[in-house]
Amino acid sequence: MFHKFINRYVITGELEAVTALHVGAAEDVFKPNGCKNPFFRNADGKPLIPGSSLKGAMRSFLEQYLSSDSGSAIIPDNIHYRRSVCSADHLCADHLCADHKTEADLKKPLRSNKAENEKELSEYLFGVAGDDKKRGKLCIVCRLFGSRYSAAKFSIRDAGVDDSFEDEFEIRSGVAIDRNFGTSVGGNKFETEVVPKGTKFSFRAILENGDDTEWMIIRQLLMAMHLNMIPIGGMKSRGLGEIRLQKVLYQKISQENIADYLSGKEIKFTVLNEASREA
Ligand SMILES: [Zn+2]
Repeated sequence: MFHKFINRYVITGELEAVTALHVGAAEDVFKPNGCKNPFFRNADGKPLIPGSSLKGAMRSFLEQYLSSDSGSAIIPDNIHYRRSVCSADHLCADHLCADHKTEADLKKPLRSNKAENEKELSEYLFGVAGDDKKRGKLCIVCRLFGSRYSAAKFSIRDAGVDDSFEDEFEIRSGVAIDRNFGTSVGGNKFETEVVPKGTKFSFRAILENGDDTEWMIIRQLLMAMHLNMIPIGGMKSRGLGEIRLQKVLYQKISQENIADYLSGKEIKFTVLNEASREA
């Protein structure tokens, strides 16, 4: 799938916290202010939204969207891969695009790493453009976001803040409630570190070898982020985690212009959508 360069879309933008935001760190990290539930940080102590958090939120949204009636209708009939969408939330065999446990065809190419088997595996998963008889088994969500058997075509960088961010973290406190009894658990106050509303993060994503349908879907996904439809992080039920993607630009490097690009010629960034130009 990735052995030939077809195109590369580079997308940049700005993510603004519409509400306070909490993206949690792992348990065993350094806790600068003793907060039990710190925000994820980079080596300089600045807040960072891991690309994997953004990717997870975008993937879940896309699964829900493409499972809806109007969402599923945007996938054209003539694509050379699976039209229905599987769900990472239901990882039983029924919902997997491709599974070696149930599909004998998949076992064979997986067992060997000979070149012809690699081609066979690629065709099995991704299909052959223009050949309806060889429809790829992976759905568009797995093609874009990766699956057990394939790398993702769409990748998102960790989103950092710019230098103007001083130590602007805030602490939200609450009381742990015992779910069974609805009472507070003996003095168990919890503290969560958030970044305030208005904090801006840089956004950068890349789509490798995207076909027209994949690019159209990525554009809709970016629009959903612009419309605050994809919250991230923790405490969403308490009104945290709303973000807006804005100032979205993209650059397309293609088979036609890659040689110029590598000779140092600039390829301009284009406004993705007028609606996403301003906040
Ligand atoms: Zn899938």
